[in-house]
Amino acid sequence: MELRPDKFKLIAGDLSLDLVNTASSWRRTDKACIPAHDSFVDVGDLVSWAVKANAIGENAARDLLKSTGTKDAGESSLRRARKLRAAIYGLSIAMAVDDRPRSNDIEYLEKERLRAIESQKIEYADGRLELRHRSGAGLLEVVLDSVVLAAIDLFTSERAKRIRICGGESCGWLFVDDSRGRNRHWCDMRDCGNLAKVRRFRKKAARDDGRDPQK
Ligand SMILES: [Zn+2]
Repeated sequence: MELRPDKFKLIAGDLSLDLVNTASSWRRTDKACIPAHDSFVDVGDLVSWAVKANAIGENAARDLLKSTGTKDAGESSLRRARKLRAAIYGLSIAMAVDDRPRSNDIEYLEKERLRAIESQKIEYADGRLELRHRSGAGLLEVVLDSVVLAAIDLFTSERAKRIRICGGESCGWLFVDDSRGRNRHWCDMRDCGNLAKVRRFRKKAARDDGRDPQK
């Protein structure tokens, strides 16, 4: 497995939504949300995403791939990442469309919250207390704990009301609209924003020519 952080883009303005955006074409069933497309093919992708998200340094990531890449610990972190991602997606999409989130997504995040808090401890250092991770926690588990805490921060703040879905056709990525005018529509102006601009331009040109804009 190799490190390929450039496979991922961070556009969400929030660590937990950036994790959600590693999958797309989600289908909502009664029980869970399932993505048709998943950028996490193996543990190497999760480690690469963590590097891209500045949650792990590159050297630590290489060591991690050498040591746990193919072992059970890595696989179980990958399973946890996927479950967590689906729950965060379910909660985010409900908030984005002003709907009541499913209770099993809330329960799952609550379970994860308790787990993340449990994995931390306070220690005295340099005249104050510091939050540290209990020794023995795997690096990927520490990263996923940070994602959980970021999601809790987001969902319990006013920013939860500014979770948006990209307006690009068949994009579906999520982000927090922190723009000054609260008028961000696109995951990225260079991608979906630009495509929409081109489409508008073509439609206008076709109207001016009296042509059918669909052709
Ligand atoms: Zn988009």
